Parts: sequence; C-alpha cells; structure tokens
Amino acid sequence: MVSFSFLFALRLEYRTLVDELEMPPSKEAPLRIAVIGAGIGGLAFTAMVSREPGAQVRVFEQAKAFARVGAGIQQSPNSVKVLRGIGLEGTLRQKAFRPDASLNRQFDTGETTWERRLGAEVEALYGAPHLYMHRGDLHAALLDSVPDGCIALGHKLEGLEVGASGVKLRFDNGVEAIADVVIGADGVHSVVREKLFGPEAPRFTGRVAYRTTFSAERLDEPLLDGSCKWWGPDRHIVIYYVNPRRDEVYFVTSTPEPDFTQESWSQEGDLETLKVAYAEFHPAVKAVLEACPRVHKWALFDRDPMARWHEGPIALLGDACHPMTPYMAQGAAQAIEDAAVLSRCLLKVDRAGVSDALLAYERTRLPRTSRIQRISRLNDMAAIKAEIAAVYGYDAWTAPLVKIGS
Ligand code: FAD
Repeated sequence: MVSFSFLFALRLEYRTLVDELEMPPSKEAPLRIAVIGAGIGGLAFTAMVSREPGAQVRVFEQAKAFARVGAGIQQSPNSVKVLRGIGLEGTLRQKAFRPDASLNRQFDTGETTWERRLGAEVEALYGAPHLYMHRGDLHAALLDSVPDGCIALGHKLEGLEVGASGVKLRFDNGVEAIADVVIGADGVHSVVREKLFGPEAPRFTGRVAYRTTFSAERLDEPLLDGSCKWWGPDRHIVIYYVNPRRDEVYFVTSTPEPDFTQESWSQEGDLETLKVAYAEFHPAVKAVLEACPRVHKWALFDRDPMARWHEGPIALLGDACHPMTPYMAQGAAQAIEDAAVLSRCLLKVDRAGVSDALLAYERTRLPRTSRIQRISRLNDMAAIKAEIAAVYGYDAWTAPLVKIGS
C-alpha cells in the first residue's frame, strides 16, 4: 500500500517543481525549458541542453514508470555521431550488436538481393558505427545522461496556453507549470501538436508490426544471418541480434492488416495468425517464428510532412512532427538529430530570441525529415539504397543552420 508520507513527499516534489517554474524570471535568469515526453527524442534533447551552464530543463512524462518493452532498434551512423556528442558512444558500442553486413533476401528462396556492408566499412565511410540494439538499452543510456531529478513521471499533458509570463502547462494530475520554451516530444499522438495545429490523426498504413525480443537459446540453430530483411510480395520481416553476445533475438514485421488500429505496447499479437501470415517464407524465418514465445502487435502510422513545427515559444520534435514508417529505421535517429539541431539553435538565446531560434530549427530540419518520411513510406530497396550516403553522412552537430532575419 502507498503510505501517506510517500504521497506527501510526492506532492512536495510536485510543488517544488511548480514553484520553481512559476518564479517570475529575471532578465538574466536561464530559459525555463519544458520537454513533454521522456522518449528517445525528449531525453536526447534534455541531455544536450542540460549540459549548458544554468539551463533549467524539466521533462514531463505521462508514464508512471519506464518499462523495457521487447523491441530492437537500429542506430545508424548519423545517429551515433549525435550520441557521441553526449558521451554515449562507448556504452552503446558495448551494448549493441555490430554485424559486418546486413542481408536482404528473397522471402522464399532466400536468394540474397543486396548485401549491405556495415562493420568497419560503414564506419570508415560515415565516421561512426551502425548499431543494432535493444530499444530499452538505448533509452536507459539516454536516461543516465540526463541530470537527476529533472523528470516528472505520471504527468500527462492536457492543456497549454501562452500568456505574458510564459507558457502555462496543465497536467492530468492537477499540476500546473510555467515555461519559456515548450518542446513537444510526445510521440506520434502528440497532444502538443494538436494544441498548436488542431486535431488531425496520423494515417494508419493498413499494416501492423509484430515485434518481440526473446532468448536465442530457444532457437535450434543460430540465426542464418546476424541481421536480415526478408522481402515478400506484400510483407516483410526483419530479424537481428540485439547484443554482441548474440543471445537475444529481435524480429519486426510489416504485415497487411487493414482492420487493426489499436496502438499500445501491451497489445499481444496472436502467434498462430503471425505464423500463417509467414507460412510461405523460408524455413529460416519459420524457425524464428516457431521459437518465439510471445509477440506484441503495433499499428504502423505515418503522416504527410507538415508545413510547420513551431508556433511562438512552442516546437515539436521527433514523431510528434514527422512520424514515419520504420522501413528505413530512421524514426528515432531523426528525433535524435532534431535534438542536436534544436539544442544548437537554442544555445545562448534569451527570451526574446526563442521564436526565431525555433524557426531556425524548423527550417533547418524540415526538408531532411520530409524527404526521409516520403522515401521510407515507399519501402523500396533501390530508393533506400540511393539515400544511404545522404542519410548516414549527415552530422547534426555541424550541419549548417538556417539563419533567420539576416
Ligand atoms: P517516443 O519515443 O514515442 O516518445 C514519446 C514519449 O512521450 C513517450 O514516453 C510517451 O509516453 C510520452 N507522451 C506521449 N503523450 C504524452 C503526454 N500527453 N504527456 C506527457 N508525455 C507524453 N527508429 C529507428 O531509429 N530505428 C529503428 O530501427 C526503428 N524501428 C522501429 C520499429 C517499429 C515497429 C516502430 C513502430 C518504430 C521504429 N522506429 C525506429 C521509430 C522510433 O521508435 C520512433 O521514431 C522514436 O521512438 C520516436 O521518438 P520520440 O521521442 O519522438 O517519441
């Protein structure tokens, strides 16, 4: 049972947070930055801005606790270059699987249609490794890199309002807070986005991702390839190890199921339905599905590129403004790039300069993420191949920023 003293302490913590944010700012006071959402992009941005002396950043997350859901994630060189800048490269290299190549195979014959060279080759070309890892390990590393006490869990944003003393935020637990800058890093169903630009649901693609991680001990044989995408006529499955020990396997599918729209990490998928959907696939794929103990199911959404991501002192970041299909494995990578560019734009900015800084961020990032959204949607091997150099070669720490007003 939760004790009264615990609740009292929690309330005090909330109060301190709100009091601190509601203090009228002096001219010299640092910007009060509120980040909505402690996902991949929100945490990356927080880690970056909180390294600046005097930065006052608070993160508000709707979840009451963080869960290690069964999902893998690829971090391509463009993302790892950003994460290097906040000191995470070493940890991620230790946690991640780094194959020499990732295979693309024909679903039934297993014929190799493209061997994408990774390992030392990709590192030499683009200046950073390509990592395959557990999403929970990436999230945990980001969490370790933000200052203690800056995240308020159990705070679901419900309303925001721009006033003379800043942006007033209202949460579902009754707490209110004030900030000079608000970053909506609240994912594909962003409340901040809706408040800024009105309701408009992201587009359900008619496809679902079955995804899970499980112990490699359950397999009779090691995976045929450390990382492989098996291309069927109207569906595919990606399978890879998520750590250097090769003892945990991940797969994610794109499977047509036009009637499914529910979206939740806890939504179980039916293993028999999944096995039937991949019954025509190669025995190496079927062996993985046979070994899998349980699976989650996730509706795949995307959105046409938006014209704007910011309004006055409020801006969007990551899936909140550019949700994309996972076919180029760039959703989190683009959120992490956003974080670096946004932190650069906000560097040394005072209250009067916030809106221009957010506009510079939007104009710098929008063309790149819009292009990746459009190409990812195609799920076309030739188109993806043609983009690799531009996607992996980008460095968000040095990319030129669009200048506003000069
Ligand atoms: P999220 O990480 O979703 O975080 C949003 C946060 O906001 C959450 O913590 C949420 O609880 C919180 N939140 C939401 N609403 C509120 C509210 N009202 N108040 C407070 N908090 C709120 N990307 C890659 O780079 N590589 C991959 O290999 C890859 N594979 C993928 C596979 C699949 C099947 C899918 C679906 C996606 C994949 N992605 C991949 C994409 C990646 O997961 C997302 O693009 C990335 O997580 C987006 O980060 P984000 O910070 O914008 O949002």
